[in-house]
Amino acid sequence: MPIYEYVCDDCSERYERIVMNQSAPITCPKCASSKHTIQLSVFAAPANGAKSTPSGFSGGGGSCCGGGCGCH
Ligand SMILES: [Zn+2]
Repeated sequence: MPIYEYVCDDCSERYERIVMNQSAPITCPKCASSKHTIQLSVFAAPANGAKSTPSGFSGGGGSCCGGGCGCH
């Protein structure tokens, strides 16, 4: 799961976000600004955008991608 580190352009606050939804807005927790610079996380860099399949989803009713992908 990719974790990104951001630096706010307005107040220089550093914060991290786990990005599960690429379309979700990222805002500063301190000043709520949406302007930021992305820093690469040193401990959880995204693996070339590859999808991982959490083993916890294998037996439950949840599906990894809405149920339409035929990945089971
Ligand atoms: Zn800020």
